[in-house]
Amino acid sequence: MAFLTESEGVGKGNAPNLLIFMRLLFVADLHYSLKQFDWLLAEAGRHDLVVIGGDLLDLASPLDLDLQIAIVEKYLTLISQKVSLVVSSGNHDGDSRNEADESVAAWVREARHGRLHTDGDGFDFGDARITVCPWWDGEVTRAEVDALLERESHHRRDRWIWIYHAPPHGSRTSWSGKRHIGDEFLTAWIGRHRPDMVFSGHIHNSPFYGEGSWIDRLGDTWVFNPGRQPGPEPTTIVVDLERGTAEWRSIEGESIRELGIAEG
Ligand SMILES: [Zn+2]
Repeated sequence: MAFLTESEGVGKGNAPNLLIFMRLLFVADLHYSLKQFDWLLAEAGRHDLVVIGGDLLDLASPLDLDLQIAIVEKYLTLISQKVSLVVSSGNHDGDSRNEADESVAAWVREARHGRLHTDGDGFDFGDARITVCPWWDGEVTRAEVDALLERESHHRRDRWIWIYHAPPHGSRTSWSGKRHIGDEFLTAWIGRHRPDMVFSGHIHNSPFYGEGSWIDRLGDTWVFNPGRQPGPEPTTIVVDLERGTAEWRSIEGESIRELGIAEG
């Protein structure tokens, strides 16, 4: 396994900036495609961290939501037995309502255990702080995301990475083909906190439009959206923090970008 804990990294001779956290695999919007979950389970062990950025379930599926949850939970358990796993909720994942009648993915929160990090979590991984934002559906859940980011800002490390289902408004990762339909609050949070990277999904076709993209930059923040495709393999983004690259794969081909972050 390529992952070394920080204590193992420290004191290994001449590599004070030894990058500990190397390959992050990001997917989103699997929408209860079990073939894509199968693919993810098979591939997971080749990475140091697997991140699923929301819409694991599909509200339009004829299958009962509770049944979808039970099956997806099994996949999450199996994947997290192979590798550290991060799951944030999307707008298709809500299974309950809060006191303000906003949709909440209680099952995602409750699925957390040792190597499975979910909505509301912040944790250190190598030299990065990773903050897992739930989908917000109204003022109360939005205030919770705001408070989470504020709290987490005191724990930021060399790198700060956010997971949040919707891409930031105004970025090419939120292009719908006619306009930007991302989250304006996320754009404001990025402006305030300046994280290093934000991983989103939600706007399924952004990467496939000329004006859209799987990658963009807002200020100093790299923002990503892998998009969604049919078939057995999800679209993926692999960020290699050792090389400082991000690579997008889809049925339309591959694209790789230098992030200019190679030193820790
Ligand atoms: Zn979606």
